[in-house]
Amino acid sequence: QMKLLPFNANRLVDGGFSISLAYSSILLSRGYFACTPIAPSLAVDLQLLELVKTLFVHITPNTTAWCETLEVFLAGRRYHLTTKDNLRRRFGNAYHWYSVLFMSADDHLSNLIGTHRPLPPSSTEGPTRPSDYLRSRCTICFGLDDWRKSRTLNLKPDVHTCIDACFTQQRSSDQCGGGPDPPNPVRSVFLSDDEVTSMEVHVRSCRGRPLDRGHKRKRPAATEEEGDDYEDGMRVPISVLDGCGDSFLAADEKHKKASTQFFADTGVMAMLCRHDRVLWLANMTSAGEKQHYALALIKKLFDNLPTDMTVGLLYDIG
Ligand SMILES: [Zn+2]
Repeated sequence: QMKLLPFNANRLVDGGFSISLAYSSILLSRGYFACTPIAPSLAVDLQLLELVKTLFVHITPNTTAWCETLEVFLAGRRYHLTTKDNLRRRFGNAYHWYSVLFMSADDHLSNLIGTHRPLPPSSTEGPTRPSDYLRSRCTICFGLDDWRKSRTLNLKPDVHTCIDACFTQQRSSDQCGGGPDPPNPVRSVFLSDDEVTSMEVHVRSCRGRPLDRGHKRKRPAATEEEGDDYEDGMRVPISVLDGCGDSFLAADEKHKKASTQFFADTGVMAMLCRHDRVLWLANMTSAGEKQHYALALIKKLFDNLPTDMTVGLLYDIG
């Protein structure tokens, strides 16, 4: 016995389908997405899933609240679900795998287009144009083969990007809230945990501090007699570096925006192009806006650009 969740009806429909793997495909051809590939007990209208997907672009994604609302709505129309938490778990499954299917179809289309694009000119000095990933994220910023032409204007970067953090996108550390993330076999705009962690280790080693959250070690300020000096390899004075570091720490300590006690992910840091297209996201797991998240995003960007491409980066750390 299976329940259908249609888009244009105010109650669930009992369907008389028998148990078979083939029924997931039949349901899909009829405009429904099953909650499981085998023996589904709920199928959701594709239009309804698309509506929820669009809604979650404009508000914080929350299938729990959405399903509770729907259960109350259905109960008001004399259709009561018999099992607690029943709809949330099954609808969550259907929504997740519908999103995976949508992204897989998008990737397939991009790959088809990519196979018909002309190959970049070969060079012994590395790539001559941004990676295919970046070209797919924003064609205007990264899709031109003659991106060097903008250098006719002095000091104009070849591309502009910006970084900022959002502390409203959090994930509860309470495993009762849904457990670990479901598998996601499609490509993602999120940096991997390894990429973020390796940058955190690198930043701490540069500061002379291990990963054990020790006290901050401050560089002794230059005295008036000593004057301003330069560190090896740096092209700005020590006083400028200190000012930058102090402002970052002030912003970090001022904004205890989330607690790691309650949240496994305390926020999201995003890198966008000048057209507000997301290039990459990093999950933040610390209480504040740590420096290594931004540096991991910047490293990822440069790993995907030709070595002689210049970048203008905007970052409001406050
Ligand atoms: Zn762009």
